Amino acid sequence: MPIIRVALDVPLPTLFDYTVADGMETVAGQRVVVPFGRRQMVGVVMERVAATEVAPERIKPVTQVLPDSAPLSAELLDLLRFCSDYYRYPIGQTVLSALPARLRSDKPVTSKPILNYRLSAGGAALDLESFSKRKVVQRRILARLAEQPCNLAQLKALSATAGAQLKVLISEGWVESFASTQNPLLNPDGTTSHSTKPASGQVAGYPPQAGGETNEKCHIFNGAHTLTGEQQLAVDAVTQSGGYACFLLHGITGSGKTEVYVHLMHQILRHGGQALLLVPEINLTPQLENYFRSRLPDVNITSLHSGLSEGERLHNWQQAQFGVARIVLGTRLSVFAELPKLALIIVDEEHDSSFKQQDGLRYSARDVAIFRANQRGVPVVLGSATPSLESYQNAQSGRYRMLRLTGRALAGASLPAVRCVHINQTAMHQGISEVLLREIGLRITRNEQSLLFINRRGYAPVLMCTGCGWLSGCKHCAGKMVLHLKEQRLRCHHCGFQIRVPHACPDCGNADLVPVGSGTQRVESVLQERFPDARILRVDRDSTRNKRVWQTMRKQIHANEVDILVGTQMLAKGHDFPALTLVGVLNPDSALYSSDFRAPEKLFAQLVQVAGRAGRADKPGEVLIQTAFPDHPLFRALQTHDFEGWAAAQLAERQMAGFPPFVYQAMLRAEGKQENEVYQYLNDARTAAVSLQHEVDVLGVVPAALPRRANHLRAQLLIQAASRRALQQFLRAWQPKLDALPAAKLRCSLDIDPLEF
Ligand code: ADP
Ligand code: ZN
Ligand code: ZN
Repeated sequence: MPIIRVALDVPLPTLFDYTVADGMETVAGQRVVVPFGRRQMVGVVMERVAATEVAPERIKPVTQVLPDSAPLSAELLDLLRFCSDYYRYPIGQTVLSALPARLRSDKPVTSKPILNYRLSAGGAALDLESFSKRKVVQRRILARLAEQPCNLAQLKALSATAGAQLKVLISEGWVESFASTQNPLLNPDGTTSHSTKPASGQVAGYPPQAGGETNEKCHIFNGAHTLTGEQQLAVDAVTQSGGYACFLLHGITGSGKTEVYVHLMHQILRHGGQALLLVPEINLTPQLENYFRSRLPDVNITSLHSGLSEGERLHNWQQAQFGVARIVLGTRLSVFAELPKLALIIVDEEHDSSFKQQDGLRYSARDVAIFRANQRGVPVVLGSATPSLESYQNAQSGRYRMLRLTGRALAGASLPAVRCVHINQTAMHQGISEVLLREIGLRITRNEQSLLFINRRGYAPVLMCTGCGWLSGCKHCAGKMVLHLKEQRLRCHHCGFQIRVPHACPDCGNADLVPVGSGTQRVESVLQERFPDARILRVDRDSTRNKRVWQTMRKQIHANEVDILVGTQMLAKGHDFPALTLVGVLNPDSALYSSDFRAPEKLFAQLVQVAGRAGRADKPGEVLIQTAFPDHPLFRALQTHDFEGWAAAQLAERQMAGFPPFVYQAMLRAEGKQENEVYQYLNDARTAAVSLQHEVDVLGVVPAALPRRANHLRAQLLIQAASRRALQQFLRAWQPKLDALPAAKLRCSLDIDPLEF
């Protein structure tokens, strides 16, 4: 009897074997319902095998094969196998967590019958050349249907009046409708066209092959700029890569990286491919989706991110799976989308830490994207104004190909002037310097916008007693409780615990409690006092809890209905505010001397991003940084816009200190209520690691940066190796030893290529 091996959402590093009854057809990638313990569970068939080690009397039959429209592709299953192995995460949980929630349920996901349209015999006989030139939309529809049948949504993408014009064409007898549930890519034998792997380095549809089926169509391409020389070089390099290659597109803000993406997509589409664009921020996806829609109006574009409802997510996922969506735009989870015609992957803002998932399968979507491009033999483009040092080093060493955009694309647009304000040598008003206040005043009179960037929400990060020095610590965490003055609350940003602001010091009874330091709320109130008539908008997670609010805020900013913006890093990313000419940076200093070796890299990237908001249009921008270290090399590099010099210095430091990208790391974390159990576990894990005698450095067990959170004690153990391969070999040997350690009361996780320390 045939045996199948099934991935199930259980925390065990194995597949589970089941028999298949006669007449039940199963192929790899199909979803099945199987008995597991006393439950019935949904799983994915990973492979069919001839024999099993499970005793014949113990092996159970599959309960049901779910009649989905299409099984998961062999390519996706391979990708997930790789992720499970690389990130040391159970295969079943890896596979199921990569799927939209609806695919984890036991309901079949057949696509609903949809009405499709195709040319009738009469329509096919029409000579488009002699068809009236004035009936633009009808011509477009006919041309499109000549290539392939389409549904209404696809035709509507051609024009807003496509629906009405379609009716005309139907009444003329040139177009006919038919209902179909058929996956358009499904071959008559039921296999999808991508289940056969392309020959190495060759991909169906891409790169363009002589005499192939690749000469698809010319899509409408709105507002295409004549590319600058550097942009053209970048586009050519990628389109001529002829298979896998990883490109680092290093372009300053406003240099036209997005323009390069659009041109690349246009090329890909012409050859029948699909493109995947990964972006860091869910907030940016609607904006970007609209932007790409306006540039490529007849292309089916879809998005995938966690803000979608389950139904929407499944729908969009299937659009990608069936090859209907040609451009998929999404946050990190979209790297696991089915893309049968995938021909290009772009990772925008590749340095952004939100590409790394911080729980469950702790994957880096950027790194998975690179693996996927390699697996498939297509190019991948990593874009950034401030590449991660990992990627930058790879480009320096020649593993990636460097593409540079060194000037701003718009004639006349220059980079902002960056100036430091020494906070110890100037008058300060509750954290804001007189110099900065004056510059803001100037902008208000000129009807220009200012942005104050501070990476702390709330009013003040801590409340202090002037009598005894008491600080508002969280009783559940090692951190401090943040003062939220408007709500009269002290709130812990680590565990969510909150209390009313006390009237007197809980330790000594002194009534003189003062806020120390500044957050967005305090900056807002200082500004309101100084500029009573100014329109001030605070943008942080507290003020934008509701998704709609942020959209409204963006509109206000664009309509220049705001004079001063106060915000956290939410404001730094990717937004284009034409009237903004001044950026003030408050309090960046803590990152300069942080225990996290990546803190300066992150700060540099953040400041370049936030500085890039100033002076995008015709008005020059200015950036004022308030600091106690105006001569710090980081600020020097910012002033001279010298990413290269800065990166070289950082890399030299990292190499000396033996940090990534010159070593490869894995972090074992544990947390629990009992300190001794946490340390016992990690020490045992360490002993096991050392006993393996691999070529790796096993560091000491140390408390986490936040040693206590929500009453759990937290500690960690770092492993370092000189190569990825050495680290992976070690981890494979270490894993069974870890699995054997008693850890019932602990929360443990292994993090490969960790970003958080
Ligand atoms: P980035 O993504 O690097 O920040 P964008 O692609 O958004 O930059 O381009 C910045 C601005 O320059 C946009 O307004 C864009 O329309 C314009 N732009 C880009 N490329 C060109 C070009 N070749 N010619 C003229 N304008 C361009
Ligand atoms: Zn006190
Ligand atoms: Zn807390």
